Amino acid sequence: MGKEKICNNVFEMIGNTPILRLNKIESYFNINNELYAKVEYLNPGGSIKDRMGVYLLERANEKGKINEDTIIVEPTSGNTGVGLALYGTKKGNKLIFTMPSKISIEKELLLKAYGAFVVRTPTEVKPDNPNSYYKVSEVIAKLIWKENKKLKYDEIEKLVNYVQTLVNSNKLNELKSILTQNIKPNIYAYIPNQYFNKYNPESHYNITAPELWNQFNGILDYIFVGAGTGGTITGISKYFKEKGNTKIIGIDPVGSVYNFVKKGMSFEKALKKAKSYFVEGIGEDIIPETIELDLIDDMIVVSDQESFSMTRFLAKREGILVGGSSGAALFGAIKYLKKREIKNKKIAIIFPDGGRNYLTKIFNDSWLIEKGFELDDEKILEVLK
Ligand code: PMP
Repeated sequence: MGKEKICNNVFEMIGNTPILRLNKIESYFNINNELYAKVEYLNPGGSIKDRMGVYLLERANEKGKINEDTIIVEPTSGNTGVGLALYGTKKGNKLIFTMPSKISIEKELLLKAYGAFVVRTPTEVKPDNPNSYYKVSEVIAKLIWKENKKLKYDEIEKLVNYVQTLVNSNKLNELKSILTQNIKPNIYAYIPNQYFNKYNPESHYNITAPELWNQFNGILDYIFVGAGTGGTITGISKYFKEKGNTKIIGIDPVGSVYNFVKKGMSFEKALKKAKSYFVEGIGEDIIPETIELDLIDDMIVVSDQESFSMTRFLAKREGILVGGSSGAALFGAIKYLKKREIKNKKIAIIFPDGGRNYLTKIFNDSWLIEKGFELDDEKILEVLK
């Protein structure tokens, strides 16, 4: 499936993303290592989640969990939604996504462009709250199962509006009562649940990791990867650990629980330290089943400011427009290499998505000022020199 050939459908355009040597970054920060970015926004859906979204639903279809009448329901920060929506175009599956309010409007509009419905949920709630994006997706699936038939467009719209009203007016008891109803699942709704679906890390083990391995003939000393569901880092790490001894370093935003739990803290204690942050797609306030922390050699914590400054700098210096989790990964990688005085190594850094999703945020000075961020990126990045 090379990019040089004529593709017969969008699925053949997924993967085989290029590797970019970050020459200017290396010289600006005086890094005596080779830095390579795997540029995932060049997937047709714009992110590393294309392979995974399609893979998850192909497996569900094989196992008879979905057919063309199934509505796909999923809590997603956007990129997984696009991957799932791509699959949806195969047989006309409808999709409903739940998305925390902090996620950019571009991502909501993007999912709607692929024909999906979106329900917005509050960001500042714990995952077991009936208003959380995890729980609201369960509410939606239960309501569809209860109907026990293939829903028409206007019926889906009505259902989505009803749930959005419950969420907006904080009707926790009504949401809870739907959640506790004993409704048997049927073919009309399916939650792939990227946080608990073993096919998420498996997709990266089977597709993303071998691709990266082949691009470097297996010769990589370090891979730096952000962890959201942990599917990417877990799949890549498992593959590389089986075949060689590449070190896998996780990137975690300040406020996420992963780095605390990785250091041996109990999840309950870590959760008390958790706080919200702006960078999208990485970090969690749960430990999903899709992450194996033991497969991660080390973790490095990066703040929103550091992530955003590096993301902006990358666009201006290297001419590559990527999202905040890419900037976070690069900042974390350089910090790690400098702190440990690592030299003459081959380093890969995963850049999960593109910057166009964040034009109204990371690349919008007014938004940054409103949130109290510093605009002088070079000043912030001085610590890495
Ligand atoms: N960056 C972005 C922008 C993402 O959307 C995601 C997915 N949540 C990640 C990084 C992390 O990927 P994963 O879920 O496989 O850990």
